[in-house]
Amino acid sequence: MAVLTTREFCPNHPDLLATHSCDNCGSIVCDKCAVEAVSSLDRYCSDDCWNEAQSDVYRHFVDNLTSPYASGFKLWADSLRPLLVAVLPVCLMVAAIPIFGARFNLAQDGTIPVGFTVAFFFFGVYGFLVTASVITQQYTNYAQGSVFVWAIQRLIPWAMTWALVGIVVGIGYVFFVIPGVYLALRLFWADEYALAHGDPPWRAMKESWLLTDGEVGEVFKFQLIAWLLGSAVFLSGWGVFFVLATVLPFLGNWTVRFAPFFIGLIFYVCYGLVHSMQLVEFYGLRACHMKGEVPDRVVKLRLGSAKQAS
Ligand SMILES: [Zn+2]
Ligand SMILES: [Zn+2]
Repeated sequence: MAVLTTREFCPNHPDLLATHSCDNCGSIVCDKCAVEAVSSLDRYCSDDCWNEAQSDVYRHFVDNLTSPYASGFKLWADSLRPLLVAVLPVCLMVAAIPIFGARFNLAQDGTIPVGFTVAFFFFGVYGFLVTASVITQQYTNYAQGSVFVWAIQRLIPWAMTWALVGIVVGIGYVFFVIPGVYLALRLFWADEYALAHGDPPWRAMKESWLLTDGEVGEVFKFQLIAWLLGSAVFLSGWGVFFVLATVLPFLGNWTVRFAPFFIGLIFYVCYGLVHSMQLVEFYGLRACHMKGEVPDRVVKLRLGSAKQAS
């Protein structure tokens, strides 16, 4: 993305300053005219330039949308190494804080001082942002650079977005459950806009609302399956943890002490899987949406089963 610093005016809006030069043809345009890329900070002067430059990107995301679980699983498997490298230090922090907290407690009554508890929760949440940033970085051109820096920079807008979504969804639940579920599905992707695209909370919520227009049924089915698959991996993670805790009795107290480390690791790795599937769904929907198309998953699935039947 080339951001302009010269004082030239937009050819379509003679009263507005040009802010971008097209990443396809180089023409200058204003904010109003600039067309966003699907998965990067690039901007285009027109739909024609978008179509020309984004056709491969569009195909890639729309193809993956036809099999979001398998494509998500592949993205997760490909991201596993950088994900582990990034979350291991966070898990160590999460494990170390209670240990040091108990030691620094002057009363020596085994409790953890408030400051350490706050730090524990901070790093706990931070780990989820680091996880999401790693997966986004693997799948798109967003969240480039150090994931640790990215996650810390976006922590407050991200938390504010979730708080606002939580309030709106909570109000929905007060009026019976269905409006709450509906609002949760419509606003679900606000977090991706807040975390990866750098949107402020209100814009993130609006974008998620626009993205899920007419897609609530599909998104509900998708989220349900994605969370079920994630939970299956989560339970296997717990299984491994309990086996380790049982077969390593000589570690004694250390199993308890390292519990936050393992639990953190299980949470982040499983969240990584769910988030991978969610990103495949998100960018697939976004690519269709930006091209002004309705996702043709249903049609493709029907064609697929027709082929198998014949
Ligand atoms: Zn152009
Ligand atoms: Zn313009």
